[in-house]
Amino acid sequence: MNSARMIKANGNGALAPARRAVLKAPGVLEIQPFTPPAPGPGEVLLEVRCALSCGTDLKTWRRGHPMFRLPTPFGHEFSGTVAAVGEGIERFQVGDGLMAAPTAPCGRCFFCDRGQENLCADAVGRMLMGAYADFILLPAYIVARNAFRKPAGLPFEEAALLEPLACVVHAHEMAKPEPCESVLIVGAGPFGLLHLLVLKAAGIHEVTVVGRGAQRLAWAGELGADRVIDAARDEAAAEVARLNGGIGPDLVIEATGQLDGWHDALARVRRGGRVVLFGGCPANTVLNVDTRRMHYDNLNLLAPFHYRPRDVKRAFELLASRRLGAGRIVNGRRRLADLGEVFAMLDHGEVLKCAIIP
Ligand SMILES: [Zn+2]
Ligand SMILES: [Zn+2]
Repeated sequence: MNSARMIKANGNGALAPARRAVLKAPGVLEIQPFTPPAPGPGEVLLEVRCALSCGTDLKTWRRGHPMFRLPTPFGHEFSGTVAAVGEGIERFQVGDGLMAAPTAPCGRCFFCDRGQENLCADAVGRMLMGAYADFILLPAYIVARNAFRKPAGLPFEEAALLEPLACVVHAHEMAKPEPCESVLIVGAGPFGLLHLLVLKAAGIHEVTVVGRGAQRLAWAGELGADRVIDAARDEAAAEVARLNGGIGPDLVIEATGQLDGWHDALARVRRGGRVVLFGGCPANTVLNVDTRRMHYDNLNLLAPFHYRPRDVKRAFELLASRRLGAGRIVNGRRRLADLGEVFAMLDHGEVLKCAIIP
């Protein structure tokens, strides 16, 4: 690989060494010089054009994460331009726009054999980190299964939504929302609002968002919610109960990752309805379920986790179609050098998703 690729022009047009962000301890981020490795067989070196902030990153920044030992390179939602390819790569060429998910399953284990690749130990145990950087090396297993050439007209910011969108697509594959249905989303964070965009693009008749925070609720309205309910108001539960002709929502999607959200979701769904428990709660959280309500109201509980290659492909197709207007979820932009500021903004709920542009 040409060593000139290891340096890149900084904002002033001068050449500077490549960098990447490392999370050294909760709240301690450092931008370090980084020499991008030459890609080995099946690998691709990507020049990052956009990385997106994610709730997982915020949690990790606040208190660490059981899955990622610190210090760790940081950031896992990205898109970029191919800077170099390893032996055997024919699908991508230097200069191509590329989008990828940060994990891929093994394709050979018990779960992969049964089409539940989201539960493959490799799918969740080998997450590629290091997207808050000038360059990131894509391992062969990701390039082979979960990487796509970016359509020319698709902005890098939208292309970087591939991974969170794949999670949402997986949930909808399980829940199968119907156009005639009334759907309630619990939680107005980036995931709740990504669910909203996908549901509205699928022509779902009535999508209501119940959540907290005036700014977030305003964003939910701007992104197409048919109704927005402030969860902090006393009348919130009664307002939800009036949905769907007073029967209650057919489908409730929990997107807060908080026990209160899970309880709310179970309490609000109509008899015979479906509940999607989408947001993972902190470890050792225990949910109490009223068995009478569960059984005699015939509730259907779904708890989708992660995504499968077919969900990544579907998410890619949705982004490529430009039907979602998914870029509207990204409402902040910062340079890599200002990454610390990004986490302060996320911590204060001032932005849904922030684009980090090297
Ligand atoms: Zn993410
Ligand atoms: Zn597997």
